[in-house]
Amino acid sequence: MSFFLLSIIVSVLFLIPVGTRIYLLNPQSPMHRSVALSAFLVGIIGVIEYEIGHSSTVESVERLAIYHSTAALLLTYSMGLGAYYYVAAYSEAWKKWGFYIFIMTGIMPLFVIYNLYFEGAVLDINHQLVDGKWKYTILDEGLVPTLFGISFLLSQVYLFFSHLVVYRKAKYKEEKFWKLVLLIILTIIPIYLVHIFLYGVNKDELGDYWMTPVLAILIFIIGWVYTNFKLFEINPAAAIDNILELMSNIIIITDTDFRIKYVNKSFENLGDIRGRYIDKSVIKLAGKFGKIPKERFDTIRNLEKNQKHERTIKFQFFKETHLLITVSATYNQQGSRIGYVFVLTDLTEDVENQNKLKDYTQQLEQSNKELESFAYIASHDMKTPLRNIVSFLNLIERKLKGDEDKEVQEFIGLATSNARYMHCLVEDILEFSKISSNEDSFVAIDLQEVILSIITHLSGFIKEKNAVIQFENLPTIKANKVQIQQLFQNLIENGIKYNESDEPTVNIYISQNDTSLSITFEDNGIGISETYHEQIFDMFKRLHDNTTYQGTGIGLAICKKIMEVHHGKISVTAAENQGSRFMIEFPKD
Ligand code: ADP
Repeated sequence: MSFFLLSIIVSVLFLIPVGTRIYLLNPQSPMHRSVALSAFLVGIIGVIEYEIGHSSTVESVERLAIYHSTAALLLTYSMGLGAYYYVAAYSEAWKKWGFYIFIMTGIMPLFVIYNLYFEGAVLDINHQLVDGKWKYTILDEGLVPTLFGISFLLSQVYLFFSHLVVYRKAKYKEEKFWKLVLLIILTIIPIYLVHIFLYGVNKDELGDYWMTPVLAILIFIIGWVYTNFKLFEINPAAAIDNILELMSNIIIITDTDFRIKYVNKSFENLGDIRGRYIDKSVIKLAGKFGKIPKERFDTIRNLEKNQKHERTIKFQFFKETHLLITVSATYNQQGSRIGYVFVLTDLTEDVENQNKLKDYTQQLEQSNKELESFAYIASHDMKTPLRNIVSFLNLIERKLKGDEDKEVQEFIGLATSNARYMHCLVEDILEFSKISSNEDSFVAIDLQEVILSIITHLSGFIKEKNAVIQFENLPTIKANKVQIQQLFQNLIENGIKYNESDEPTVNIYISQNDTSLSITFEDNGIGISETYHEQIFDMFKRLHDNTTYQGTGIGLAICKKIMEVHHGKISVTAAENQGSRFMIEFPKD
């Protein structure tokens, strides 16, 4: 066998794996398809050249020469297509205009091919055997050979500019270098080929059918640069591998029989080596460690293409683990189901924290209840001995009535007023501890009636202070009647009490929006400095001593608690000496 034939055979053998490899790297990408197609076209050219080498008649060589020219034209076309997709990923302008240019350059080869097959046109002529090889010259006159030459020239220009665009867009040093290599190879080798096999062929210099080895080297270099340096694009397949390994979620990939084919590194957080579970059945593992019945997997089997199945389970692996499992089916390029992907999120810490929070809340509720009942019992039980102390002090006071010792009388008087004050305190603490959050006690209450009954109840006080209570048409609300009465009474009483006007006035009016109903108690009293707007709602907080204004400092704390029970809030806006505006706000639902 001659060196000539051997080199063609070796080249073709090279091209098959290179083309396949490029295709498999990303079968979805049109660029990969075009490069692979180019590799196979070179293979076909190789076979044609081999056939020509074995032909004994001029007729058969002439027939094969037509195939040879066709394959060469298709090859430039498919390389141009590859170049188009390659650059389109980098340049929007190329994506738009490059395609039109490509189509334009494709019209000429189609015209040439049509003429070769249907109009009997020929390109390589004068075939003759020289030293056992078929040689030819190129027809250099007429439209078809001219277009044949021009289309090759244009495709070279197209290849050159497309690679120049990509080279100019490269950012990194290594990337720049390899893109320059591609630019040079893809410009010089085709020009060399066109020169050797097309323009360089004339009556004196005959042409050989020996393109394949040169083309094979070209394709091989492109394939090698591409597959080893991956310069054309970020390879999602490789990135996915890394992501899967580094993900904090546990990923399990199974075949359609739920046999484990891949487990990522996070699986080892559960406490075991992942390799042990390859080829084991997920159904069995789920049954053993999570007590999940195998029928549950029928739901997964019935999943539609874009559906996923999600649920949380308790898994007793090495320790108790709570997992959120998301399962979806996975498909191959042909659309057939090839397996399932399980994504497991470890919720153990969240569940533990939630349980802890639940425990704390329960403990807090319990200790609050204990505190309330303690306050209730203490204040309730203190009432009787206190009342007795007051009575006995009264008796002693009466007994000592005629006594001259003024000091003793004064002491007794002080003891009595202190005991009375303590009695008030105990009463108020008792009231405070009685406020419960039982929503069963909520009934419809006409606020108008509530105010009228308070006015009657406070009539003596109102008269004494020459006070006026004004109110608008107030609505009916659902609430605890006793508590609302207490709330309104505290606010009205304070409005009159903390008031030095000749005619203390409390004006009550409502405002509402979609979500809440607000009731404002506005007075013309002494007002409250802004510093205390929060503090006055605290237990025992008073802004005056007992000789100026009597009180215990519990009234507003009771109001606040009542509003909490009703899921509402209480606030104040006031300035010193300018009256106060207390606003209570009830949610509408
Ligand atoms: P008490 O009236 O028993 O002192 P409260 O809890 O009802 O207790 O009120 C706390 C403090 O808030 C009062 O001591 C008073 O200084 C101030 N305050 C309450 N209501 C008003 C008001 N309408 N105008 C001015 N100050 C007020």
